[in-house]
Amino acid sequence: MKQEENDKEKDDILLEDPENGSEKVKSKLKCFVIIGICVVAVIIFIVILMTTMKTNEKKKESNEWSDSYKKAEEFVSKLNRTEKVGLLFGTENMRFLYPQYVTEEEKKGLCVGNIDKFKNDKVDFKGMCLQDGPAGIRFVKGTSISWQAALNTASTFNKTLMYLVGKAQGEENKEKGINSFLSPCVNIMRTPQAGRVWEAFGEDPFYSGVCATQIVKGIQDAGVIATIKHFVGNDQETYRHASSSNIDKSPLMDIYVEPFYRPIHEAKVGSVMSCYNAVNNTYCAENKELLTNILRDILDFKGFVVSDWWSIYNNHSDNFNSGLDMNMPGGYSWGEYFGRDKSYWSMLEEYDDSGIIGENRITESATRIIATMYQLNQMENFPETNMFLDTKTEERKKIQRDAATESQILLKNQDDILPLKDIKTIAVIGDGAFERDCINENDFGCVNDTNLVVNGHIPLGYGSGTTDFSYLITPIQGIEELATKKGIKVLKSGKLIYTDETREVKGEKKTVHVSAKEDIDTGVEIAKEADVAIVFVKADSGEEYSVVENSIGDRENLDVWHGGNELIEKIADVNKNIIVVIDAPAVVNVPWLDKVKGVIFSGFPGAESGHAIADILFGEVYPSGHLPYAWGGIDDYGTKITHLVNYSICETGIPYANEYRYEGIDSAGRKDDRPGHDKEQYNYTEGLYVGQRWFNKQKKKPIFPFGFGLTYTNFNYTDLKVSLNKDGLTAEFKVKNVGKVVGQAVPMMFLTFPDSVKDYPEHIFKGFDKIELQPNEVKTITIFADDHALSYFNVEQNKYVRVKDGKIKVFIAENGDPEQVILKDEIDSKF
Ligand code: BGC
Repeated sequence: MKQEENDKEKDDILLEDPENGSEKVKSKLKCFVIIGICVVAVIIFIVILMTTMKTNEKKKESNEWSDSYKKAEEFVSKLNRTEKVGLLFGTENMRFLYPQYVTEEEKKGLCVGNIDKFKNDKVDFKGMCLQDGPAGIRFVKGTSISWQAALNTASTFNKTLMYLVGKAQGEENKEKGINSFLSPCVNIMRTPQAGRVWEAFGEDPFYSGVCATQIVKGIQDAGVIATIKHFVGNDQETYRHASSSNIDKSPLMDIYVEPFYRPIHEAKVGSVMSCYNAVNNTYCAENKELLTNILRDILDFKGFVVSDWWSIYNNHSDNFNSGLDMNMPGGYSWGEYFGRDKSYWSMLEEYDDSGIIGENRITESATRIIATMYQLNQMENFPETNMFLDTKTEERKKIQRDAATESQILLKNQDDILPLKDIKTIAVIGDGAFERDCINENDFGCVNDTNLVVNGHIPLGYGSGTTDFSYLITPIQGIEELATKKGIKVLKSGKLIYTDETREVKGEKKTVHVSAKEDIDTGVEIAKEADVAIVFVKADSGEEYSVVENSIGDRENLDVWHGGNELIEKIADVNKNIIVVIDAPAVVNVPWLDKVKGVIFSGFPGAESGHAIADILFGEVYPSGHLPYAWGGIDDYGTKITHLVNYSICETGIPYANEYRYEGIDSAGRKDDRPGHDKEQYNYTEGLYVGQRWFNKQKKKPIFPFGFGLTYTNFNYTDLKVSLNKDGLTAEFKVKNVGKVVGQAVPMMFLTFPDSVKDYPEHIFKGFDKIELQPNEVKTITIFADDHALSYFNVEQNKYVRVKDGKIKVFIAENGDPEQVILKDEIDSKF
């Protein structure tokens, strides 16, 4: 029956009813019915409108990729099978390490990863160049900016600056014709010992995701594919090829996968790199749970997955059928050194004939790779690769300097010793303030055949994440520049005292520096004469293929090197005004903390290091950096790296670990680190309690909490108002500068989910801002936690679930110590 007929019948029934017979009642009822119909119609209209809007929104979002996919499908349909396979395999271009195999044409364009160009009657594919990252463009002989470590970038807590860094890096890559920059790295700092912590953003999953999103947006806005790595659980270097990171689903998703979520959703990152290790005993590059179930089905990743270099350990069918799209650098694992005695394409044909990977997977991966290139507008007019084109502009140097300076973290400032004032003489002490012997072989930590010691200032750690420096402003240069302007006399002591041995190096007898100590006596002498002593201490870490001062990537302990602790203690006996500058990947032991007045954690600030440090010392820039991790002792974290390989064998002079991994490690009583051997089992027993969360759970205080960093002023926080709706939670409050000088506040928001979320950490970091305030100035701040920030991974439902049962506790603070909360409130999580 139609609605009208229905209504009429209702009216008729009413008319027949003797008790409702009056005209008045009749018309009133009619009115109600009409109003009712109108209301229903409006509701239906609104529902339709909302559904259409949502569908359009969804369409718009997927369109951003679907147009690229349409174009890619068409492109790939014009390729034969071997050409498609060619898109999936690199040409093993790491052979640039072996110049005898490099052709003249290749000399200007050998990238660490290279997909070969090809042409048929229908398409002309120009190839794809992939290059490291993240601290700048690797292997370019100083022709691009040597950026600060990513951990320094994270210490700025400045999202705009992060974007600018990413954008400038992206532009440099594009100008050099690099399609894909192998950055950012988002592995989580479970312990500061881990060799590559300086390449990533610290311990916090939410914060790492935010930093990575800004960097990816910057790189990709410049038209270059960003590659977020390493997916997932490569959180230490020791045995990275022969270990399994065993992680339960909840921490796997909410700690280790989490930093990939926002870059995928908010920045549409083009590429993800899998990692060397296994997760739950299946190697990452053949781990279907990771590469397909999580990355594609749960995270909805649309770009392509590239293997970490030489991480295809078994057969290709397992890798590609699990969701891997690109084998880098190619060749090697096909048994023969690729490109040496056979042409790349003849190898591809042979491979193709073997039918190891099914046609559908080949087409799917080829389409993903080409779609990503369309997505970044790289299929036409992309610059030809020219790695040695100089891309160091003044503007980019300035961004690097700004980021390096803003990343300096003031950890102690007793008696307002900083910024330096009213002084006539300073003593600069410690080899870390001075020049280093080699800045262009930084890849191997500046350790060479006859010098097994890292001397001089360390601007970046070692490994694939670093760069060749064209210049390095050392701290002493920066300090002398400003001291001269201010009429301050600088005394210097920074020579290492070496222990030498005569050894046979590559068949010749040579004098080799085997270890070194700081020159304490000279340091003490000049400290006696100075108003203030600035003491530099240092430590280094990096990637496991290099052996630096006997450590293979990961740090064996957290002590500063070359007797730096003793140096400080001895200086403290003669001068009470000590400022320590720490030049290191992350946390170091600070047994002398009570004996010094000032401490700056400098990290690895890149080429402009000396300017950054001097600007902070002399007050040209006020400090505003904060720790993106909690600072404790080696045993205070939820885990510790214990299986350190002793590579003392490298004392023979060659610091390249790979040479030794394959020779006689077992005979020296050490475990074999080759892939395929028994995997070391790393059980992530701390679960969701990483970093500050671990300290909170143990009710222990770190030396410095997550987020710690002093300024020269103080801030007052008032008037917290919290609201919540379906989009997320908003905290609004006022911040006032109550000190005498300008300063930058970094208010942070921590949340505790309702009790209905079982076994979940409390007080988790979910938002922040950074604002500059003049003395007495007040600003209203809004921090927003979006829908995802209010969600957790529900293992039973296998998806992210928004909390909606019970109260969310909201805390505003200046760091992650729950006892230092400044404002708090709570709000019903229902929306
Ligand atoms: C590193 C990656 C890097 C790749 C290419 C590997 O050793 O783990 O981060 O991108 O080499 O150089």
